[in-house]
This record gives sequence, structure tokens and C-alpha cells, in this order.
Amino acid sequence: MGEESHPLLDAHILIVDDDAAIRESMDEFIGMAGFRSSTAVSAEDALDMLDHDYFDVVITDIMLPGMDGLELTDRIKKKHEIDVIVMTGYSGDYSYEEAISKGASDFVFKPVRFEELLLRLKRVLKERRLSQERTQMLEKLKRLSITDGLTKLYNSRYFYNQLKIEIDRTERYQRPLSLLLLDIDKFKDYNDTYGHLEGDQVLIRLGQVIRSCLRKMDSAYRYGGEEFTVILPETEGDEAATVAERIRTAVEMERFTPVKGGDPVSITISIGVTEYNRKEEVALFVQRADKAMYQSKQAGRNRVSCLFTSKS
Ligand code: GH3
Ligand code: MG
Ligand code: MG
Repeated sequence: MGEESHPLLDAHILIVDDDAAIRESMDEFIGMAGFRSSTAVSAEDALDMLDHDYFDVVITDIMLPGMDGLELTDRIKKKHEIDVIVMTGYSGDYSYEEAISKGASDFVFKPVRFEELLLRLKRVLKERRLSQERTQMLEKLKRLSITDGLTKLYNSRYFYNQLKIEIDRTERYQRPLSLLLLDIDKFKDYNDTYGHLEGDQVLIRLGQVIRSCLRKMDSAYRYGGEEFTVILPETEGDEAATVAERIRTAVEMERFTPVKGGDPVSITISIGVTEYNRKEEVALFVQRADKAMYQSKQAGRNRVSCLFTSKS
């Protein structure tokens, strides 16, 4: 293994001890080991510093005037993502178990042997980094699993997930909920004329246009190949129709140049709008939006149609 400690060196360490001699010698040692270090004279002082600056690890004495090191550890773990190493004498007033149960990552005895403390600090920092990387990786995977790779909108799996959540909320609080289903008009022709890759560019731009027309609480999804859905929470059907019309117009105004130096081309979409009816099945709700969209197609495309009851 090579020199692995290097990425750990940006770490900021807070040393908490009421004994000035210990505090200062530790500060000097930690600094010489290459870390950034700061000191606090009490738990109260430390908590105040943690609110104003970023720290990776707190090394605290257990015996402190006022709030003790265990209480400090407890408070830190409840409020911050910071590792704590506690220091104590052999007196037996405090136990290793107690410190760990408060969330401490490690425990050292006083008088502190600096070399040992350094090894423990490095181990804590390494685990901390691994855990941060793991969290980031999981977040990235989660994001990927709900995102459509081409348009970067949410995907259809996430659509059903969110739709169920919104329906539950709607049932619970008896709030309105609307849904849009959008389909590109004659997209096959576009692909046949300009090629699939240019068709993909249309899908990407469309995703951006749709998103730009939405409010903060709305969410857009790539439902299928060239079909999109929009969930509009807290929205009644007629208001949803207004949003739909805004999207339809914005798409119609957009210009594409699939042939370099060629004439700009416009595309249109057909939209179906519907509002959720209490106690109905998810599938029925989505089918109605699909039916409304189909009505737009039949009526000549490039339009918005609304269907608010299950009949017709
Ligand atoms: P309509 O107005 O009736 O919707 O006509 P349309 O041609 O859009 O309808 P149809 O369902 O017959 O064709 C959909 C087309 O969408 C066919 C397919 O090539 C295209 N499509 C679906 N997914 C993608 C994609 O990911 N990229 C591209 N470029 N085209 C896609
Ligand atoms: Mg289609
Ligand atoms: Mg189509």
C-alpha cells in the first residue's frame, strides 16, 4: 500500500480540553502531523465553534467543567455529521461502553500517547471517508435509478412510484391532483426524415421545454419512447389544462435544425389532461389521461384535451 493518508490531511480537527497544557501540546502535535486543528476550552465553547465552522473530528476530554465530554458527544452526534474521539483518565469514572453508546468513534486513555492517538485518528478519518464515499455512491445510484438517461427527466418507474405517493396524499387530505400525458405528433416521420439521432435531440430539448413550463411542485417524466407525463399536485383540472396549453405553445414555438445550415423545423405535441377522482385505481387515472391525449390526436393533433370523468 502506498501513502494513503494524504487525502485525509485536509481534515479539520477540534481539540476540546480545559487543561491548557494538554490542549496546546495536542494542538501542536496534530498540526505537526499535517492536519488543520483548532481548540476549545469547554463543551459549550466547542458546540459554538461547530455551529460556525466545518470539522471532521472532535477529540474531547471527558472531564470538563460544565457540560462533560459524554454529553458533548451526545449533542454533537444529534446535530452534526462529525466523528468524536473521547479521552479519559484511568480513574474509572467513565467507561468505554458509555462513550461508544453516545456515538463516539473511538476512545483513548490519558495521558495520551500521541503516536497512538494519531493512529486512531487516521483510522477514524479513513472510515469516515469510506462512509462518505459509500453515501455518495448510493445517492448517485438512487439518482440514476429514477432518471431517464436521454432526457434526464424522471423515468416511468419513478412516475408510478410518485403517482402512488401523490394519490395517497390526495386521498388523505382531499386535495386535487392532475395529470398530463404528452405525445409527440408524427414523430415517426421526423425520425424517418432526419434520422433517429436528430429525433433524440428533439426528445432532449422537449424535456427541457416541459420542465421550464412547470412550477416547483410539479414533476415531469419520460413515460415511454416519445411520451411524457407531468404530475401536478394541488391542481384542479382546469388549472392543469392551462399548464398543458403553456407547454403545447412553448413546444410549438421551439425551432430545431436537424440539417446543418438547413431550414428550422418545428414540432408539435398532443396533450391529454385529467384530474384524479377519489378512490379510483391508479391505472384508471392514467388511462383517462391517455384517452384524453388520444382525443387530441383524433381532433387533429397539436392540441390539449381534457377528460374529467371515467365515462365517455
Ligand atoms: P402520432 O402523431 O400518432 O403520435 O404519430 P407518431 O409517429 O409520433 O406515432 P407512433 O407511435 O407511430 O411513432 C412513435 C415514434 O416515436 C416511433 C419511434 O421511432 C419514435 N421514438 C420512440 N422512442 C424514441 C427514441 O427514444 N428516440 C427517437 N429518436 N425516436 C423514438
Ligand atoms: Mg406514442
Ligand atoms: Mg407520437
